[in-house]
Amino acid sequence: MTLDEIEKHFQSDGLQKFRAKQVFRWIHRGVGSFEEMTDLSKALRIQLAQQYVIPPVKVLQKRVSRDGTIKYLFRLGDGECIESVLMCYHHGYSICISTQVGCKMNCSFCATGQSGFSRNLCPAEMLGQIQTAQVDAGVRVSNVVLMGMGEPLDNYENVLRFLELVSHPEGMNIGMRHISLSTCGIVDRIYELADRKLQLTLSVSLHAPNDEIRSRTMPVNRRWNVAQLLKACRYYAKQTGRRISFEYAMIGGVNDMEWCARELSRSLRGMPAHVNLIPVNDVTGTGYQKSSGEALKRFVDVLESGGCTATVRRTLGSDIEASCGQLRGKYKGGNGYEG
Ligand code: SAH
Repeated sequence: MTLDEIEKHFQSDGLQKFRAKQVFRWIHRGVGSFEEMTDLSKALRIQLAQQYVIPPVKVLQKRVSRDGTIKYLFRLGDGECIESVLMCYHHGYSICISTQVGCKMNCSFCATGQSGFSRNLCPAEMLGQIQTAQVDAGVRVSNVVLMGMGEPLDNYENVLRFLELVSHPEGMNIGMRHISLSTCGIVDRIYELADRKLQLTLSVSLHAPNDEIRSRTMPVNRRWNVAQLLKACRYYAKQTGRRISFEYAMIGGVNDMEWCARELSRSLRGMPAHVNLIPVNDVTGTGYQKSSGEALKRFVDVLESGGCTATVRRTLGSDIEASCGQLRGKYKGGNGYEG
């Protein structure tokens, strides 16, 4: 609930309005129960616990990488599991959170898609991932990326509400410029989001320069093709004044040829864009190979000489299977990862 909504509920319960702000602050500091809200009377804590729930996000398993990255497997109230990754950069801590349990999009290279879709996360479960990680690791997160399990624009209303809550001054107060939302390209929603003119960074998982390759690897491309997606991206950039970030997982022999880079730089011409190249992560059963260092370098060179800025994303947490869906997949498969 937003602060306004808590206030309304409390007022109709006959509680004083200022209690709402107290409770809101506690929740957003990561307190998981009313019992711990020590500036409320015992009687009030009991009353609240009878009437309301704080959806639990509990650490089920945790892995710490040599580079400091922490991968969490969280358990939700109904026993479902989701993943988050806490990363330490020179500018502070970033967390990558999930927006759904599983995913419907079925990208051929992605581990999350392999285990199917269970349900959407509610806004509290998205916030809970940040709060639980902050409390567990004893740090404050300054950046959030919606780039974990699930497709954020396929859970649009809940994600919007999450964005409102996470940026609230009485809550975590994380500004939109410190948030990135990654999408596989739900074009209708990109237009809607653009019209809200939020200052968040839109990351678009492009992964291919044309429909032939993209439809083979990303089924969503059969609904909205590359031209339609890029048109929506131009609109987003125009409405928000923000540069679009394109994700491009480099798969050996599939999308990493020089002509792909040339085609890509032509398509992105005139758009404020940045391309993030990511050597594809190994996912069992896909048969895909990472591109060579040489192919990556050539790709960057071709993009840049075509006037497109590009970087190769630094890999964090590769020793702990930190990428999206890898840990939950193992857990579900019962490979001895029970925490
Ligand atoms: N559904 C959203 C966000 C979740 S996936 C989206 O598609 O953008 C987060 C990012 O990881 C996406 O860019 C996705 O394409 C990428 N990804 C998935 N599997 C990958 C793999 N095996 N190697 C590299 N990137 C991968």
